[in-house]
Amino acid sequence: MTARLIDGKAAAAAIRDQVAVRVTEFEKRTGRVPGLATVLVGEDPASAVYVRSKNRATTEAGMVGFAHNLPDTISESELLDLIGELNADERVDGILVQLPLPAQIDSTRVIETIEPSKDVDGFHPMNVGRLGTGLPSLVPCTPYGCLHLLKSELGNLTGLDAVVIGRSNIVGKPMAALLLRESATVTIAHSKTKDLPAVVRRAHIVVAATGRAEMVRGDWIKPGAIVIDVGINRLPTDDGKGRLVGDVAFSEVVEVAGAITPVPGGVGPMTIAMLMRNTLLAAHRRAGLADPEGL
Ligand code: NAP
Repeated sequence: MTARLIDGKAAAAAIRDQVAVRVTEFEKRTGRVPGLATVLVGEDPASAVYVRSKNRATTEAGMVGFAHNLPDTISESELLDLIGELNADERVDGILVQLPLPAQIDSTRVIETIEPSKDVDGFHPMNVGRLGTGLPSLVPCTPYGCLHLLKSELGNLTGLDAVVIGRSNIVGKPMAALLLRESATVTIAHSKTKDLPAVVRRAHIVVAATGRAEMVRGDWIKPGAIVIDVGINRLPTDDGKGRLVGDVAFSEVVEVAGAITPVPGGVGPMTIAMLMRNTLLAAHRRAGLADPEGL
């Protein structure tokens, strides 16, 4: 059996197009366009690439971007002052601080300083708690993108067995909360889980978010399962350019699964699309408007 490929690139493009249409409507109603502030500290090449893509997507959606690129020598209090300014700036609907931050800065304190209504990453404890208790919130972009792909594949997730491998605050835990909200039966696995292959083999939905290249093997997968690969790992190649692979051994799993996200071109593009969606949503809520339909 060869699995269907879940085209995250196409799904993300459709969401970004929809966001752009809603931005025009928002501007007509409010006289301004939504704004996203990105904060990049230091010069980590991967982080710089991500932030550039986010800034570009903001402009392409017709929103206004405020890019803050800071040296890695910045102190925590200087960064907190900037967050305070962005919290108070009426043109800014969303604030994204690219993680990880340099060692002298406590990222928890930074996240807690972001005004929850502008927390488009959905990492503030207020938004985390609201997601956990089933209240409207801003939801982390990557797991929300995974959920969108799963719902497009499966429709209703009620009663399906789902295994999320990884329990980070950014991916694993919010992914599990979202699946639970859809009434899936959710197991969260992690590095201390006993007999992980047997746990994964029970699942109709597998979400892999471990940061371990090609860890999930073909014989772990129940035939026909839907596999979402969140991992982004660069393996060395002879030409020195490296090769991107996920947390799933794609060539094995594609023979067993019912559908699978490729790496690249699966979950990655959805993260940026959902960031655009969250910024639009935050702008609506801050303007006292109903949430935009269909997003
Ligand atoms: P993380 O914070 O390092 O968390 C990794 C999780 O995987 C931890 O909960 C860890 O368990 C678990 N784990 C590690 N080794 C394991 C093993 N051998 N067996 C079972 N569980 C294991 O990583 P993250 O931020 O969640 O990211 C995960 C992956 O997704 C990375 O490849 C990252 O690059 C990628 N990612 C992609 C996007 C995107 O847009 N596509 C966005 C974010 C992240 P413990 O808690 O027990 O240590």
